[in-house]
This record gives sequence, structure tokens and C-alpha cells, in this order.
Amino acid sequence: MNQQVTASQRQELWDIFQKAPKPQLHLHLDGSLSFNFIMKAAKRLQSRKPEEEVFEKNWIPKNEEELFLWLAKITNEDVNSHFKAEECDNWRAFNFCNKFLQTKEDLIEATFDIMHRGHDEHNINYLEIRFAPVLHTLEGLTEEEVIHAVGEGFEKGVQHWKDLGKHVDGGIIICALRSFPVSDAINLVKKMSTIKHERVLAFDIAGDEGNYPLREFKEALQLANECGIDMTLHAGEWSEKLHDSIIDNIKVAVHHGSKRIGHGVALRSVDHTDELMTHLQAKNVFVEVNLTSNVSDPRNVPSFEEHPLPSFLERNIKVAGLNVDNWLLAGNKDIGRAEPTGEFVRAFLDCGVTSKQLSEIAKTGYIAGFRNVSESIIKDAMEIWESEIIPKIDGWKEKHLSQG
Ligand SMILES: [Zn+2]
Repeated sequence: MNQQVTASQRQELWDIFQKAPKPQLHLHLDGSLSFNFIMKAAKRLQSRKPEEEVFEKNWIPKNEEELFLWLAKITNEDVNSHFKAEECDNWRAFNFCNKFLQTKEDLIEATFDIMHRGHDEHNINYLEIRFAPVLHTLEGLTEEEVIHAVGEGFEKGVQHWKDLGKHVDGGIIICALRSFPVSDAINLVKKMSTIKHERVLAFDIAGDEGNYPLREFKEALQLANECGIDMTLHAGEWSEKLHDSIIDNIKVAVHHGSKRIGHGVALRSVDHTDELMTHLQAKNVFVEVNLTSNVSDPRNVPSFEEHPLPSFLERNIKVAGLNVDNWLLAGNKDIGRAEPTGEFVRAFLDCGVTSKQLSEIAKTGYIAGFRNVSESIIKDAMEIWESEIIPKIDGWKEKHLSQG
């Protein structure tokens, strides 16, 4: 569809989608830091630990693009050398980012910064930010302090736009990591059940899906259910063609009452008559799609054109927004970066999703929000999509693609 589209035509389309109100449900705090935030936090890090080498010897990135390419190179090396997160460890690019998220000040500022960019640059008015508290305890914070700090950053953001007469809503999702012991996940659920913070919305298990099956975490999932904690679980992100446990991960998530699935790409291999699809529909489970993140590793999805998103829509799978996953770390030098508006451009141009379908995806994202987005917010957002965004996109299509 997009062969004849020039960079300026693509930009024109981006400008239209930028104005569309959007929910963002799948965004990792550590993978979504901005260049400006990192440079500020790096100064604080160096004053705490003068001996620490922040970037590489004699090199610091000049801008966000340089930082992104440097981190993408590190990720690529990791993926090619050992396609497995070591026990009690994480990928190196995430470890790098987490150096800047070890104090309350860092966590509050990073959260607010993401909300700020999301709202002011991409019109996101409903946002859920997720993070694994254990990764932020390296300099003495407790997991509870970490959760409260991110919650405080989020509340600061909500209040900031409230003072300006604007409505931004959402909250935070607490992640356990697959490469850490199951007992850590169980303890985290226990902590969540005692934390009373209105921005704490749900529990997730993230990380290396191929080597650490979700089934091993059943006890944590059962406990979350008993405690009445909502769940969205990473499942079906890695290729079901390379790892045996991937489809089972989705089954385990759905069976344990996860209201949403993070990624779910592997549903492409599940027949619509399969019991899993029946359960997915019967339980009204939403799928958080992350296009650029999925295509970052061609072993999972080889290209945007081959992403299963259009088939999800045909099969009535409930697609909850188009999400970045990791705003700084998703993507690579060949496909570019993930960013909230760009995901819509890619879905439209590269995956062939229609303007009307995109408005439905946005609407479903709001509906899937764990903080019960009010009907008036959804109605206002849909009015803008229908009266402004869809006609402009269709006009753009008529002008630039009509011959095709
Ligand atoms: Zn994710």
C-alpha cells in the first residue's frame, strides 16, 4: 500500500494522527526514558557515584537519536550472543536505563516526563505505565518506596493538567520478572495487596518469555486472583515457532483471569475454532498490540506487513490501543523507533488497517483501561476521531493513494 508514499506525505499523515486522542496501555517506564531525562539523571548519578562510567569511555550521545542507536546496538548484540536473560538479571539496555531510576527524585521525574511527552506531543489522555519495582532497589529504596514514588510522579502529572483544565488519567502497573524467582513474584503480589494507592492498577509478569514459562508462576497468579488484583500478562510475544511454551503462556494467562494480554502475537497460530479463542472471547480479554516492538526482532514478526494485527481485527480479537512497549528501546536502525503517533501511521500504511478500524482500536483501548475511563471521555475522544481524524485520513488517502 505504501510504496509510493514520500517522507513528506508520511509526515502529513503523522500530523493528522498526532491530533487524535489516544490511550496508551503498554509502556515500560525503564524502556521509555527520554534523552533529556537521562542526561539530567546522569548528572545526579555521577554526583552520587563519581567513579561510574555512564556511557562509553570518551563518548556521550549528542541527541536522542544517537542514544537510541547506541542502545539498539547493545540490544542487537545481546540478542545475537545469548537469547536468554540470565537468572535474576535483565537485558543490558534495560540495565543501562535503570541506572537512572534509583532514587525517588529519578522515579517521580521520569514518570512525569513520560506523561508530559505523551500528552503534549502525542495527545495521550489515558496512560498506564508499568515497571518492575525490584529493578529500582539497587541504591537502597524498598519496593514499596519505589511503587509510591512512581505513583507520586503519576499523581503530579494528573494534577498538572487538572490545573490547566485538562483531563489526563490512568495509573501504574506493577511487574514481576520471569527471570527472577517465583517467590519474588508471590511476595510482590502480597505487597500489592497491602498497598493502598489509587494509581496502582494491576499486576503483570514481564521479561524473557521464551525461557521462563508463565506456568511456573501459577501460584502468584492464583494469589493475585484471591486478592482481587487485576492482571495484564505478557504472553504470546515471542515466536511460537521457536519456543514451545508461548501459546501455553496465553492459555495460562486467560485461564487465570488476566483481563488483558500483552502482545499476543502468537494468536496468529491459534485457529479460531480452538478452545483458547472461545475462552478469549467469552472472557472478553483484550490484547495490547505493540507493532514496532514486535517487528524489532524479526524472529517474532518479520515485517510490519506480516504483523497479525489485521487478522486480529477480522477475527474480532479486542485490540486495546496501539502501544509503544518501550518508547526508547523498541525499534532498530532499519525500522526506526516506536512512538505513540507513529504506531498509528504504521498500522494504516504498512499493515493496511483502515481509519475507522483505528478509531475502534483507540476506543477499545480506553474501554480496556483498568481505571474505568469515564464514558464522557471516550465520547469526546470518539467525536474528535469521527469529525476530524477519520475524514482527514480518508482525504489524505484519496489525495495520495487514489490511483493505487
Ligand atoms: Zn512489554
